[in-house]
Amino acid sequence: MLNTIRLPKQCTYIALSVMMVFSACKSEAQRSPQSKQDSSHNSKKTMEGTMRPEFTAHLTPKEYDVLVNKATDPPSEGGYTNLFDEGEYHCRACGALLYKSDSKFKAHCGWAAFDTEVKGAVKRIADNSYGMVRTEILCTNCGGHLGHVFEGEGYTATNTRHCVNTSSLVFHPKNKQTIYVGLGQFYNTQAIFQKVNGVLYTETGVAGAENSSLNIAELEAGKAKGIEVVKVEFDPTKISLEKLIAEYFNAYSSVSSSLTQSIPAFAPIILTTTPEQSVTVSKLLEEYKRTNATSTIATSMLSNYTKAELEHQNVVRKQSALRK
Ligand SMILES: [Zn+2]
Repeated sequence: MLNTIRLPKQCTYIALSVMMVFSACKSEAQRSPQSKQDSSHNSKKTMEGTMRPEFTAHLTPKEYDVLVNKATDPPSEGGYTNLFDEGEYHCRACGALLYKSDSKFKAHCGWAAFDTEVKGAVKRIADNSYGMVRTEILCTNCGGHLGHVFEGEGYTATNTRHCVNTSSLVFHPKNKQTIYVGLGQFYNTQAIFQKVNGVLYTETGVAGAENSSLNIAELEAGKAKGIEVVKVEFDPTKISLEKLIAEYFNAYSSVSSSLTQSIPAFAPIILTTTPEQSVTVSKLLEEYKRTNATSTIATSMLSNYTKAELEHQNVVRKQSALRK
């Protein structure tokens, strides 16, 4: 049964206590701080409390340690170090686009290397920790720690190497797809789709709003037009549209029909972004209604969407973190 969620008046930040992973690598510029941390765990530079919980509630402890506490992934040939597929690299905390695959190069250093960032997406600050003079790189949008940037090494024409932790990034392949799903209050729907393997990014928003200044309370009270939806970006090589819609049907079966039918903003809907998606979703919906005759799920192409304010993002995850 789906229940409505009331937002907390104050978002209290709960810091996760996690241990650092130490590296034995001897040849890369990110290595030095770690070796010094070995002798004193208390020396770990911390930024706890400086990132909004909307950006961190969905992170794993390892990702949180890198993005918030400025830890470093161990050097590895895995992760995104040797990935050269065409696509984009987004911030794992806030989803902002940071790097494109055409700026990625082989630095053989154990971390993902880029020779240029998306304009304005990456902020540089001086990092004089551990007796070294380095330049730290952060996501401009959320302040999440990415890694460090090095100049003058001569790798590529830009003479610049952004040395970035895999934990700070999510790779979005060129063929990624986006759909928007409405199913009751969008907080719960976001929590459901965040857990689906192959989903790259989710955010809450409103489809069909009359203006871009959303008032969710008015919307839920029936005083404003629009349907609460979740934007779902997914990798079709990891989860097909058919399987994603199956997840939706599964969620629909557990949602109170009185809720979705009595409040227009909570109407069940699947909004597609391509004609191909529309064909597939219409067919799946037809099949579903054959055995679920009372279904009120609608579908159409997306025509109007506004992202909800930060306080409406990752709400279920935030509340879950607060209860711990
Ligand atoms: Zn970010």
